[in-house]
Amino acid sequence: LNVEYAANEHLSKALLSDLQKIVGEEWLLMRQRDLIVYSYDSTPFRGKPWAVILPKNTEEIRQVVQLFKKHSMPAVCRGAGTSLSGGPVPAEGGIVVALTRMDKIIEIDLENGWVVVEPGIRNQALQKVLHPLGYWFPPDPASMSVATIGGNIGENAGGPHCLKYGVTSNHVLGLEMILPDGEIVYTGSLSPGSTGYDLTGLITGSEGTLAMITKAMLRISPLPESTITTMAVFGSCIDAAVTVFEIIKAGLNPSVLEMIEGIMLKEVNEVYNLGYSSSAEALLIIEVDGKADTLDHEVKQINEICLKNMVQILKTAESEEERELLWLARRGGTSALGRLKPDSAETDIVVPRSQLPYMVEKFREIGERHGVTLGALMHAGDGNCHPQIPFDASIPEEKEAAEKALWDVSQEATSCGGSISGEHGIGMEKIQGMRLMFSTDELILMRKLKLLFDPDDLFNPGKIFPQDVLASTERGNII
Ligand SMILES: Cc1cc2nc3c(=O)[nH]c(=O)nc-3n(C[C@H](O)[C@H](O)[C@H](O)COP(=O)(O)OP(=O)(O)OC[C@H]3O[C@@H](n4cnc5c(N)ncnc54)[C@H](O)[C@@H]3O)c2cc1C
Repeated sequence: LNVEYAANEHLSKALLSDLQKIVGEEWLLMRQRDLIVYSYDSTPFRGKPWAVILPKNTEEIRQVVQLFKKHSMPAVCRGAGTSLSGGPVPAEGGIVVALTRMDKIIEIDLENGWVVVEPGIRNQALQKVLHPLGYWFPPDPASMSVATIGGNIGENAGGPHCLKYGVTSNHVLGLEMILPDGEIVYTGSLSPGSTGYDLTGLITGSEGTLAMITKAMLRISPLPESTITTMAVFGSCIDAAVTVFEIIKAGLNPSVLEMIEGIMLKEVNEVYNLGYSSSAEALLIIEVDGKADTLDHEVKQINEICLKNMVQILKTAESEEERELLWLARRGGTSALGRLKPDSAETDIVVPRSQLPYMVEKFREIGERHGVTLGALMHAGDGNCHPQIPFDASIPEEKEAAEKALWDVSQEATSCGGSISGEHGIGMEKIQGMRLMFSTDELILMRKLKLLFDPDDLFNPGKIFPQDVLASTERGNII
């Protein structure tokens, strides 16, 4: 598609031909059919970009961002587009900067336990290189086969093993990034320290609104010597939730404590042929890892807690295939629900672990109140719950009921000391929920920080902040 033909009221010929000169003709997408591919993530939110560019290195991004500034062009960073909050969807148009071509590992230092990577590398691709070396990058979102490290950092992703090893922010040592004025900035260092403000921490989880990450220095760990995986099936999801709480309270340190419950378990059971009876309400996947000779004792204590809470089936995975099947089922949970309805609404609240049984009970109550079916996948050990509601978006009443139910879930979570997001971020989806968490003054403080980095509000506009906060902190005016 030539620049002459593609130019429109948003994109001048001058901008398009300069972009083409920087990234090459092949890597500037302007056809409608290409733009649609970059108009969505894993939520029902949609927003078509005006163009898409796929740069291949930091210098190209720097030049492109300088052009954006010159033309006051909104820009949205994108990894694999698996976000569950609308993060990479261009809410206000603009140009999508897709980073999937920047997928190289630049350096691996096993002695000091770090790697430097480009942001477009997929999480699992990194693991596949590290595993044969006896190492891994512990944050393991269920989307790891496609989600990129840039996206993991953008959302501060969690995952099953984050219970023991910490979430993405605990593994980012430093960043190379481009600010909205085109400046390259480096944060952090290869050894832990406390020098000045923690800019690495600020950028991690900032959803592409403050800077574009062009390289990441990540902490890696030796693979555990041994792992034991147990599946525990309960007839009551409250019993399962109590078990989770009691395992942690007992001072045990499982690496994984995941829960699949309600309609989600029913679907997963059928799709993956797990063979559980129809009375099963909740499945816990429990892993312990470490030195082989220390694990049996920990497993025994965990099993005792499961038995006390009336577990129906308690079984240790006996082969790698059996373990893999369980993980396949856990990671495929959301897709399994797709058999019921064409759409699914999801949120990702987190509650103090002691509140898990209460929250699980609330899921049922809220579901009944709004006439929806609600089942959850959970990083239960962290108190992080992903309740999901299958619905048909073409039926307005179903959509409305699902949205109302998830709003009630967020309200319940915050009222018992939790948060509206454990790991998926705010994006477009939870903007109103920010009001449940923060006062106007706190939101304005965050907004001022955003405008300090990005006075013209060019990076990923339309995310995170409620409308009234935007109105009280105008673009270009941070006072
Ligand atoms: C089936 C399924 C399971 C999931 N499981 C989990 C889970 O277990 N844990 C979890 O935390 N999430 C999970 N997610 C959500 C999602 O996969 C994560 O948020 C993931 O980290 C997003 O990565 P991505 O490459 O797809 O990023 P995208 O969706 O493309 O982008 C996410 C955000 O990061 C920003 N961003 C991307 N790259 C950069 C960059 N280089 N610089 C600055 N900002 C950038 C974007 O602007 C956007 O705001 C799941 C999603 C699905 C569909």
